Amino acid sequence: MAGILFIISAPSGSGKSTLVSELRKQVSGVDFAISWTTRTPRGSEENGREYYFTTREEFQRMIDAGMFLEHAEVFGKDLYGTPRKALDDALAAGHDLMLDIDVQGAAQVRAKMAEAIGIFVLPPNPKVLRTRLRNRSRAEGVMNEGELYRRLGEASREIEKYREYGYILVNDVLDRAVAQLEAIVLAERFYRNGEAIAFRSRRVLEVAAACMQANSQERLKPVLEAFGIDGTSGQQQLLFGDDSDDD
Ligand code: ADP
Ligand code: 5GP
Repeated sequence: MAGILFIISAPSGSGKSTLVSELRKQVSGVDFAISWTTRTPRGSEENGREYYFTTREEFQRMIDAGMFLEHAEVFGKDLYGTPRKALDDALAAGHDLMLDIDVQGAAQVRAKMAEAIGIFVLPPNPKVLRTRLRNRSRAEGVMNEGELYRRLGEASREIEKYREYGYILVNDVLDRAVAQLEAIVLAERFYRNGEAIAFRSRRVLEVAAACMQANSQERLKPVLEAFGIDGTSGQQQLLFGDDSDDD
């Protein structure tokens, strides 16, 4: 493709939608694929803005018609899929495309498009993740503890897949994580297309290089350990303990 395909994945509540929306304010030429889903809209979500919301029957018809680049059942509950059209449109416009999809969908896309650039976002620790999920639920006026714990329960299993991604962001301080995401996009444009990144280029390339998984082991160790994941064996033990110390 003329542009670059970016895949961003993270445990739910890590802040990837926030990061992508901040990125799009700062960097032009990145399209965002709007997925289809069978889940019900949350808070102020609107059909055609965050997602296209549909029924399972309609989603199945779309699968049968070959309309998806990838699709998956996420949290064992709802179906989510990326329309092929998003890729076709970005290609036609010569834009980059950002897919916000789960680890299963990312594996499907990588199998078809090995050149896709994977970015995995980690929350700094389980407690912060739980607080973010809870704050988001409150802000959206829906508090579904079952859903919250379903998502937290999946987090460690998703995080174990971090090795499948070329870049790793720890979304602790938002501004820093946004700057890192921006640096990754600009650096990849530079590597891929020789696109000029002006006087900031050296700094941008340094920031992006520091986010490469290969350069991230020290930075990631405490985060992985906080999620009960042994960085070497990939084994995972812990969950989220009790939440008696939550705000
Ligand atoms: P995701 O898309 O990964 O499920 P969201 O972008 O919806 O996550 O973020 C979950 C919640 O965390 C939101 O309420 C968002 O405002 C908040 N959030 C995101 N990034 C940060 C951050 N760096 N610091 C504090 N809160 C954050
Ligand atoms: P949410 O319900 O919080 O919007 O999203 C839940 C999960 O579904 C997130 O991990 C998100 O990345 C993932 N997701 C969103 N759209 C798609 C998609 O089109 N395909 C796949 N495989 N996952 C998606």
